[in-house]
Amino acid sequence: MEVALLSFTPEPELIVAAAARLSFSSIGAIERRQRLRSEQVNSLLGRLLSSGHLSPFEHASFTFALDGISRVTSHQLVRHRLASYTQQSQRFVSFKELNFVTPATIAAKGNLKAKYRELVRASHELYRQMLDDGVPAEDARYVLPNAVETKLVMTMNARELMHACSLRLCQKAQWEIVELFERIKAEVAKVAPRIGAELKPKCYHLGHCDERDGCGLFAPRESPVN
Ligand SMILES: Cc1cc2nc3c(=O)[nH]c(=O)nc-3n(C[C@H](O)[C@H](O)[C@H](O)COP(=O)(O)OP(=O)(O)OC[C@H]3O[C@@H](n4cnc5c(N)ncnc54)[C@H](O)[C@@H]3O)c2cc1C
Repeated sequence: MEVALLSFTPEPELIVAAAARLSFSSIGAIERRQRLRSEQVNSLLGRLLSSGHLSPFEHASFTFALDGISRVTSHQLVRHRLASYTQQSQRFVSFKELNFVTPATIAAKGNLKAKYRELVRASHELYRQMLDDGVPAEDARYVLPNAVETKLVMTMNARELMHACSLRLCQKAQWEIVELFERIKAEVAKVAPRIGAELKPKCYHLGHCDERDGCGLFAPRESPVN
């Protein structure tokens, strides 16, 4: 998979801080923005996070190109409703070649890997036959498996990125969406390191693990003593 940051709010952390300061200041966000030094921005962002005053983070948006994720993963991704998505259409694009994702657990098993590839190849062959026979791509695509690769453009603000990462960077989430959000985090961290540092699994926020069989990073919460 490939993840590229296509565009983002200029000076994203400064904008978040200027917006937050506006709420308890007599001067406007334009003037405030010019007056804020980087250490003030960092400390203000820290206070917003620790107090749960998260709406200022909605002013910083990030637009990503996501290439070569499976349809399995794009289905999970678009469940995050507070974002904008544009996905390559299987109605309007007909696929001469079929790129697909092979999970490591299947790739590790030679006989299953061969059968898996054969099944994907056979479904693509039938797809091609149907297209050649005049079946529209929007119907022929019914035979394509979840493994096929797709491409999206996604725009998400920093608040929703923190929320989505809290769920999807958990090592108990599905491996491909974990990898996707690790790459998204790396892209954000290049241009907004303070925000990037806040893109972490929920256990960091909770201080404990709430999964049944955790990865061991955090201990489960102790049962309350009666
Ligand atoms: C490990 C894991 C396993 C999962 N398994 C399944 C599964 O088996 N089946 C399944 O269907 N889904 C599953 N999901 C998807 C999950 O139920 C959510 O749809 C997905 O994680 C999106 O997160 P979200 O709903 O918190 O918020 P987002 O859509 O990212 O929205 C962010 C927040 O905005 C608020 N919000 C957004 N929309 C509304 C609304 N309409 N009403 C009220 N508040 C709103 C909520 O506070 C929400 O948390 C799974 C997710 C994970 C991480």
